[in-house]
Amino acid sequence: MGSQEVSEPQDWKGLRVTVAGLGVSGVSAARALADLGAEVTVVDGGSGPALEARAAELAEAGVAVRLGDADTLPEGTGLVVTSPGWKPDSPLFAAAAAAGVDVVGDVEVAWRLRGPDAAPWLAVTGTNGKTTTTRMLASILRAAGLRTAAVGNIGTPIVDVVREGDGAYDVLAVELSSYQLHWAPSLRAHSAAVLNLAPDHLDWHGSMEAYAADKGRIYEGNRIACVYNAADPATEDLVREADVEEGCRAIGFTLNTPAPSQLGVVDGILVDRAFVPDRHKQAQELAEVSDVTPPAPHNIANALAAAALARAFGVQPSAVRDGLRAFRPDAHRIEHVADVADVAYVDDSKATNTHATEASLAAYESIVWIAGGLAKGASFDDLVAGAARRLRGVVLIGADRALIGEALARHAPQVPVVDLDRTDTGAMSEAVRQAARLAEPGDTVLLAPACASMDMFTNYNERGDAFAAAVRELGASA
Ligand code: ADP
Repeated sequence: MGSQEVSEPQDWKGLRVTVAGLGVSGVSAARALADLGAEVTVVDGGSGPALEARAAELAEAGVAVRLGDADTLPEGTGLVVTSPGWKPDSPLFAAAAAAGVDVVGDVEVAWRLRGPDAAPWLAVTGTNGKTTTTRMLASILRAAGLRTAAVGNIGTPIVDVVREGDGAYDVLAVELSSYQLHWAPSLRAHSAAVLNLAPDHLDWHGSMEAYAADKGRIYEGNRIACVYNAADPATEDLVREADVEEGCRAIGFTLNTPAPSQLGVVDGILVDRAFVPDRHKQAQELAEVSDVTPPAPHNIANALAAAALARAFGVQPSAVRDGLRAFRPDAHRIEHVADVADVAYVDDSKATNTHATEASLAAYESIVWIAGGLAKGASFDDLVAGAARRLRGVVLIGADRALIGEALARHAPQVPVVDLDRTDTGAMSEAVRQAARLAEPGDTVLLAPACASMDMFTNYNERGDAFAAAVRELGASA
């Protein structure tokens, strides 16, 4: 089964650690490391009463905070801990590199804090479906009677969960973003899945190759299974390139009939042809497609990936079924808000890139599409060309809406487009009213922006909430 997965314990006592960013993960890392005897300074470029209040709280825990300068490295720093969102080319990291100081993320810190008997990690990454799959996995593990938590890019900061101690959990379901993987060099999961790989965050990573390489780190040192998407060869390539423990298997998931060493679908049944005594002759029934909510194709794929990781951990088939049945998706993910005048209004605000939006546009026949926001370097030609015949109309919002408008002009010139040149708080209400005007009975008005939200909203939750409120207004006036 290979060697132990625990890295060398780090000696934190007296180590001078600089934490980048006074956000949730920065605060949790700073407290944890100060508790362990490190001399911690948090640096943040911002200022103002909210940050000062947080700084005062940290000061009581023995943590120094420097506001208003996030660029220079404090004297004597031995390790830098980053926060999500900080770009790899931030001046602070350049200064660290010049001084020969390591830069790591909160996941790496959590990994280094684990004791010898810590719970193994089942890890999930991918361009889309991470949160859904990780929560499905946690639901399955719970149904198997295991003590677990969904952590990483979601839920309680992972450092806090690991600090509860080695005995607190049997296994963790860990969602990892490409940023977190970038900064977690010594992470070694029990088993891991890459759900899919499509261009996203390229402005952060610099190139598709760099993005894929960071995602691929999740497979490094896996002991039992590297789970890949049989429909997405790039994920299988990452498995091939990974350096894993001897005996670790490549396990595929597919929406078709599974080959040996795959999980797949046969006649509406999710089946396992990987974790069975004889995979050449046998397949194990796990659950029905109708046990998965919503039963959209991309979500069945998520369920199969979660099932593969659970099975790699030895979970019984009945627990896979019970866990999937108990699972409900989070808000703003293909969420049906209301029907108004025979038109369905669906909030997929979480579709912040073209790959996610492609999946949701594929789920409806006749759509008035609300799109736009921050494009993060994406191109919209393939997305628009693929969906053109299903578009009744389009309402464009946000900073980069012209990019989508140009793609529509190229690939769907017959589709009516409303270009909404406003970013005030009432903009979403108007977008919904315009969409209602374009829609005909039986259509779906779909908020699936293919863009980030931060040009107009705090985050995708607020964008989805604004959409839902606008739909309710529309319903009240109908
Ligand atoms: P993540 O945590 O990776 O952002 P979520 O589970 O929150 O993923 O889903 C994000 C978006 O991607 C949602 O809009 C959802 O509809 C879409 N989505 C979910 N799973 C997949 C998948 N396997 N392939 C493509 N799109 C997906």
